[in-house]
This record gives sequence, C-alpha cells and structure tokens, in this order.
Amino acid sequence: MSAQRMRVTGVVQGVGFRPFVWRLARELALTGWVRNDAQGVEICAEGSAKNLALLIRRIRLEAPPLARIDSVDSRVTKPSGCAGFVILDSLAGKVSTAIGHDTATCAACLAELFDPSSRRWRHAFITCTHCGPRYTVTRRLPYDRPQTSLAPFPLCAACEREYADPGDRRFHAETTCCPHCGPRLTLVDALGRTIEVTDPIAATLECLRRGEIVAVKGLGGFHLVCDARNAAAVARLRKRKAREEKPFAVLLANVASADEFADLTDEEVALLESPERPIVLARKRAGADAALPGCAPGLAWLGVMLPVTPIQHLLLHEAAGRPLGVAWMSQVLPLVLVCTSANPGGEPLVTGNAGALERLAGIADAFLLHDRDIAVGCDDSVLRATASGNQFIRRARGYTPRAIRLARSGPSVFAAGGWFKNTLCVTRGTDAFVSQHIGDLDNAATCAFLEETLVRLLDLLDVMPQRVAHDLHPDFYSSRLAIEFAARHGLPVIAVQHHHAHIAALLAEHHCVEPVIGLALDGVGLGSDGTAWGGELLRVDCAHFTRLGHLRPLPMPGGDRAAREPWRMAAAALHSLGRDAEILTRFVAQPAAATLARMLSQDLNSPPTSSMGRAFDTAAGLLGVRAATSFEGQAAMLLEGLAATRGSVMPLSNGYDIGRDGTLDLRPLYQTLADCSDAAVGAALFHATLAAALADWAEIAARAQGLNTVACGGGCFLNHTLTGKLATLLTQRGLHVLLAQQLPPNDGGLSLGQAWIAQHTYGE
Ligand code: ZN
Ligand code: ZN
Ligand code: FE
Repeated sequence: MSAQRMRVTGVVQGVGFRPFVWRLARELALTGWVRNDAQGVEICAEGSAKNLALLIRRIRLEAPPLARIDSVDSRVTKPSGCAGFVILDSLAGKVSTAIGHDTATCAACLAELFDPSSRRWRHAFITCTHCGPRYTVTRRLPYDRPQTSLAPFPLCAACEREYADPGDRRFHAETTCCPHCGPRLTLVDALGRTIEVTDPIAATLECLRRGEIVAVKGLGGFHLVCDARNAAAVARLRKRKAREEKPFAVLLANVASADEFADLTDEEVALLESPERPIVLARKRAGADAALPGCAPGLAWLGVMLPVTPIQHLLLHEAAGRPLGVAWMSQVLPLVLVCTSANPGGEPLVTGNAGALERLAGIADAFLLHDRDIAVGCDDSVLRATASGNQFIRRARGYTPRAIRLARSGPSVFAAGGWFKNTLCVTRGTDAFVSQHIGDLDNAATCAFLEETLVRLLDLLDVMPQRVAHDLHPDFYSSRLAIEFAARHGLPVIAVQHHHAHIAALLAEHHCVEPVIGLALDGVGLGSDGTAWGGELLRVDCAHFTRLGHLRPLPMPGGDRAAREPWRMAAAALHSLGRDAEILTRFVAQPAAATLARMLSQDLNSPPTSSMGRAFDTAAGLLGVRAATSFEGQAAMLLEGLAATRGSVMPLSNGYDIGRDGTLDLRPLYQTLADCSDAAVGAALFHATLAAALADWAEIAARAQGLNTVACGGGCFLNHTLTGKLATLLTQRGLHVLLAQQLPPNDGGLSLGQAWIAQHTYGE
C-alpha cells in the first residue's frame, strides 16, 4: 500500500472534475478524498503504486470536456488506511485557480430538454457540469453555488439527490436547478407590466411573429430580438436603436437552416457548433439580402449564430411546433431571428431586469425576463473561421476568462488598453487574462464598466499588479485610470505607443522574442512624434521599436470629421494629385466642398495622418461608394463587399512608390481610382494593389534588416481579402507571417501587447 497527495491546477472547478476523480479512484480501487481549494483541486489517494500512477495518467488523458489541466504535482505521503473514496467540502483560502467560461447547452441536456418524460422538459435553465453559465454567474471564487447568482435558489429534494450523487451528471453542478426550484421566466410588456401567460416562451414567439421587438435575457446580457425575415420589424429595430446600417447578427436553429443565406465551409460549421457558440461571419449567398432585408445590407459577410442558451433553444423548438426528441434540431427551420446586443447608445450591455426596462424603454415591445442575475456583462464573441485558423473580431462570451499563455512568467502587469473596443489585461505568472470586450470609452457607463471589470478581474485572480501599462495617448480614460492606479499603489507605469502594442500583442501570443518587421495598419493611434499614425512599418525588438517607414500622410480636412466622411479623404487625395479643381465638380452634393478645397489649398485644419484606415476611406470616396459612413470601418467593409463581387484581379502595375526613406506612396493607385467608372472593379483593384504594395514594402524592410518574420497587426487586418492576399504573397517570398489568432487584430488586442511590453521593459 502507498499513498500520494496530488495537486491539480488549471480550469478544474465547476467542470465536473471531482466526480471524475471520484469515479476513477473507485475504478482503480483507491481510497482517500478529493476537494476543491483556492489553488485548484487536491487529491489524497491510497492503494497500489501501479494504480496510483494510473490515476495520474488518466487524470491527464481523460479530463472532462471543459477542464484544462495545467499541472499535476504529486508527492508520497503516509497511508492512513482510510476506507472508501469521498468528496470533501471546498477549502477557502488564497485564490489562484482559473474560472470556467460559459458554454452552450450540451447534448445530454438537450435530450432532456425536449423529452416530455424528463422532469426538465422545456426547463429554460437546464444545465449540468458539462455545460451552461460559469463566468457570467460567478461572483467570486472558489466556484460554489453560494458564490454564484444561483444562491437564492435552494435545491429541491430531487435536485439535491443528483447534486450529492457522484455518479450523476449533475454532481456538484453548482448552477443546476429544475422547474420546481429554479429561476422562472416572465414576459413583461413595454411598460414593465407582467403579461399573464401560461407559457412565456410560446407568448414570446407570438410577439416575434407579430413583428414585435423582444428584449431577451441571455447569458452575458440582453439581446434585442425580432423576426429577421420581417423587413418592417428589422427597420423598426434599426430606427429605435438609432443604428442605421451596422450589421445585425442572426440566430438560426442549425447549420442546415443557414444554407439559404451562406455557403458554410467545414471550418465555419465547426466553429458555429463549438461549445463557445460565437457569432460567425460567413460569406453571404447572392439571395441573402433579399431573404433577410436590412440585416447586413451591402456587406460580403453575414453574422450567424446557433442557439447558446436553453431559452434560445426553446424559442426555436416552439417555432418548430414543439416536437418530441431532438431530430428536429438537424432539420431546416424557416424561423430566423435578429439577435443583437442590447447596448443602447454604445453603452455597455444591459444585464439587469430593472436596467432593461429603463434603458430599453422605447426600443423593446416586450421583455422576456428571468430572476437569475447576470453577475457580469459579457457580449457575444464574433469570429471568422478560415482555413488557416479562426480570427477574432470580438472576444468575449465563451472565451473570457480563458487565459492566453505567455512564453515566460513575469511580474503581474495591469494594462489598460486603448480607447476603441477597449479590453484590459492582467497577467499572473504565465497567464495573460484579457477581459471581455468592454467597448468604446466615449461614455461614462463604459468607463465605469472598465473600472468594474478591473476590480472584478483582480478579485477573481487574487493578484496585485506590480506594473502598469497604458497607451501613449494621455487623455484616454484607460490611460488616466492606469496612471491613477499606479499612483495609488506606488507602481511603475509605462506609456506604450499604439502600433508597437499592436505588434507586441502578436509576439505575446506567438511566443516570439526575436526581432520582427511589424506591419501595423489601423485607423488611428498616437505616434511618438505627436501626429496621428496608422500605416506603420516598424522594426520591433521586444520592448523597443524603430519606425522604418509609414504611409505617405494625407491631410484630414476638418480633422476627425474626415474619418466619418470618405468624400473628404477623397478630396484630400485629389489635392495631393494636383487635381484640386475636381473637388468642386465631383462633390457638388456636399455643401462644404468649397470650404474644404480652400482648407486643403491653405493647409487649414487639415492635420496629416499616415492612417491605412483613411486610405480605405479615400478609395471609397474616390469610387463614389460612400460620401459619409455611419460606423467605424464601414467604408472598408463596403469596399471588401464590392471587391468580392469581382473576384480576383491583377494588381495595378506601378500602382505605388516606395521611397528611399521607407515611405509608401499610394498616389498612383488613387490616380487610377479617381478615373475608374466601375466601383466594383476599382474596389478589387484597390485590394489587389494594396496587398502587392504592402508585400513589397515589408519584404524590402525585412531584407534590409536581415529579418524574416513579418507580424501583421491593427484593425485593417480584419479585412479578410487584404489579409489573405498579403499573407500569401509574403509566404511565397519565404517570409514567416504572424497573424492574430487568440485575440482580435484591432484595438481589442492592445492591452495584451501593452502588458507584454511592460513585462519585458522592466525585466531586462
Ligand atoms: Zn449539460
Ligand atoms: Zn429542483
Ligand atoms: Fe489600433
């Protein structure tokens, strides 16, 4: 007889880990116990040496689906001669375990959900140890029911029996409940009055079928839902949400039902059906805009999502006629629902019932509420599935709070991110925890959400940062928060240049410490020289960078307005080509055209920018695609959509110049676009020529510097057409390309880059 004490770390709580150990121990005739504590799971096992070794092996090999094992350490101890194997109560203490992420309802729960003989038939809160809410219901660690928003729902006798039975799928399922003891659904009208109905799900579906907009409480916040095939309903939602054109994602029953709108690849299907269930951007079929009027007009991509929560499953099940069993789940269902985040005015997601009634007043016709609180707001994640891997556009529900593993351990850093699409990052050892998408820091509520998220993350990780990092721009709310935090705690703080951080984020996730060529392309970031950067060719050596080149600057007539009005950038390009006279004739519809021409000729209120985002605007303006945009990145998205209708074209020969000083000049391309009468041809030409130009630019720099890795970061790399073409060209020339895979390439990834630079700055 021998005995061992084992410690298992990683994501091992709330994932069915203890019953898994319990079953293994019994199978291997071992005695002892298993328990949760602040570091993870602790096991004490006694039996034959052979079976003890087998236990450790099988813990690693057969861990439950949601578990992630970082380490199993064991040491020999004295056998106590105990009988049986038991699961002990959790031990509180200093927390350093990881918390689970939210996942879609599992197959076993779905089978019960649609089985009338199950006691959880059509139970909107069905969950087990392998599925359901985690991060969004957890208030603090260790993960136990009283620490979650299920605390007010004591288990009934039947649920208690399952909870206490190590052989049951719901053994210690902290969020388990049943229709008898769990939360309840309520349907409420626009004025907050409860609508007395026998079945809130059926009544909600009736509302949707009538063309109404219903606010539905989800995992990480409310969604605004309406019938996606009903043009009037979609238009009403746009009007009420004051969201003129930004695309809406749609919820479908299954992959088969998506076939009408999108030609899904195997990678897209796998991602759609993954337990994370993100919104997946899929290439639209030709008839998609006609079938789903107003959902994503004019764009090449449609955001598609499959049901995540039992509530979403039940709405679709109701639409299918409440069939028995799960066969309906693979059959085409015509119902398609717009499912968009309820975040009025760009503020954080609505999470509370009272907040929903107040903030969604005038938008929602009805509210499908329940009494299980959302402990933390968490948006839907948005990804694109490509043959070379997945690409994040927004990282939140289903992925947060999973850590990004760093190559080496270092002091804990808090990095505050940027301004647009903000996230923050806290590191602990080799783990970098990037928060869920927080949003644009242009309103008090989002700024408050950033602060709350920091407090919560530090609390959940039980870590006190030793260093602080923020963007070079001192006026960002994130920068001020970081500086204040550092001052309050007496910590060293560094300001990180925006594009340096974009490239560093890639180096962090790819475990790269070699010097690289960084191609940082985005809308705007403050440069080290105080001007607006955004089309940057850098050499990055860990915590240092050199600006090797940049896009030839164009003036932005009217400053920031030029970022929302592509015609202004087109006018700036005409000015740079010496074609000033055309500004008035081309933009006759713009009352400000004459003023703008004067501003450009006299260099008034026209700050220069090397932004690549503005280069996309310039092209859109010259091609007449758009005079003004209603959301960030719209011009580039429309251009990509147009280019997709033309397919691949040859790049323009002599479409660009690369100066000896490293400046990339796109004026020859603009010259051609200005004279191009077919916008689709022009858009395709723009993508092809830009990719060729960037490949040459990066290659020349790489050869000159003796480097062979090119890291591509910044929001422009969300453009799939450009990224694909560029990566192919660079690879063909023998260069190694780094692209963002675990975080979005846009400003949502800045905080990781900042944290990594802070670690390396002081670590030297
Ligand atoms: Zn389940
Ligand atoms: Zn119950
Ligand atoms: Fe950026």
